[in-house]
Amino acid sequence: MTQDVKNKTDAEWRELLSPDQYRVLREKGTEPAFTGQYHDFKGDGVYRCAACGVELFDATAKYDSGSGWPSFFRPVEAESVIERADDSFFMRRTEVLCAKCGSHLGHVFPDGPEPSGLRYCMNSASLDFTSRGEQ
Ligand code: FE
Repeated sequence: MTQDVKNKTDAEWRELLSPDQYRVLREKGTEPAFTGQYHDFKGDGVYRCAACGVELFDATAKYDSGSGWPSFFRPVEAESVIERADDSFFMRRTEVLCAKCGSHLGHVFPDGPEPSGLRYCMNSASLDFTSRGEQ
């Protein structure tokens, strides 16, 4: 499923997404730790943007960070995501957005494993898993 996401209105996003997805993807919410469907999920496949369907992360880059959110050490392509300074909540963090549709995915932190040393800390609600072979 790849949606045409250019110029989608707020009303259209609300119709397309579940309330939880809308709150994370379009309002930059964060789901509570250990509550999302993918934090402890180990399926082999790819994780797509739940808003527009573009491939964002491969299961081979997923690791158990112990954080309670699905964590990856790199996106499928560097160009798959946009990283932006986020100084909200009195913290200096780096927000991660879908490069195609601009939806909020989570944050990236410099405490991940090699080879990247990065932890892409994502919300399950922003992702849509597809098993390998069903793509
Ligand atoms: Fe997207």
